Amino acid sequence: MRLESVIEQPFALELCRKWLKRQTTHPLLFYGPVGVGKKMMALEVAKALNCTAGLEGDSCGSCLSCRKIAAGNHPDVRVIDLAWQAAERKEPIEKQQNLRIETVLAERHRLLQSSVEGPWKVSILDEAHRLTPDAANVLLKILEEPPHSTALILVTPFRDRLLPTIVSRAQPVRFRYRERAPHLSHEEVEAHRQSETLWESLANLPPARLIQPAEGRARSGKLGRTEIEDHIQRLLVPATRALRAGDPKAQEPARLLHNALTQLRQNVQPGLVYDNLLLQLSKERTAR
Ligand SMILES: [Zn+2]
Repeated sequence: MRLESVIEQPFALELCRKWLKRQTTHPLLFYGPVGVGKKMMALEVAKALNCTAGLEGDSCGSCLSCRKIAAGNHPDVRVIDLAWQAAERKEPIEKQQNLRIETVLAERHRLLQSSVEGPWKVSILDEAHRLTPDAANVLLKILEEPPHSTALILVTPFRDRLLPTIVSRAQPVRFRYRERAPHLSHEEVEAHRQSETLWESLANLPPARLIQPAEGRARSGKLGRTEIEDHIQRLLVPATRALRAGDPKAQEPARLLHNALTQLRQNVQPGLVYDNLLLQLSKERTAR
């Protein structure tokens, strides 16, 4: 892969190109819907920074540095996310709800050292909205004075959940919905398919049936906040598509979905938010 091949996000690509040209440590903030290639773009930026082929503002995709970044084992390029934290803490991933201060402190320590192989140290902070307030404050310190030759890329679907001070210190790069999302894993594709089915069935199924078979398990009390957020984000895909196609019937569902996301942000109990959402959606659809 090369930066050039990220054609589905022309605006984000253009901003990244300009940013690369400036050879700056000004942090980047990638935001936009789930599954549209934010993390992939971050890795392409990391490749472009460290590629040894000497292409200006792009990568070759085949030198040792590019290959190591693609394989996730370049010593100067790190993706910090819940999975990384779980591995570092030797804990199961299910136990990771937030990105903790220890994780960010350890990354700060790394960034203050010299790079190991490449000219640039790259830190990709995925799901940046999961930072605890403590962790966010440590991150803020790093953003205020990024160590030299350091690129920080924050990635999140929820820009408005970051501290405003963090947002204001990073260059925002917005990613948009697109029709096809080729970089989804098999599980994600399956999850999207289920969401599409759920969306289709909203008009036909009575509320009680909707909640149970939709997720193939008992009521959503068992689902975590992350899972529920993902479910809602995925339901937004067909809703937004219908809106863009000019379907007026999609307006209310889209509003309900956005409301539910807001409630999650306000710490309303996730199972409750989800159950209520499905009930309202179903009522709304069957009322027609
Ligand atoms: Zn290369």
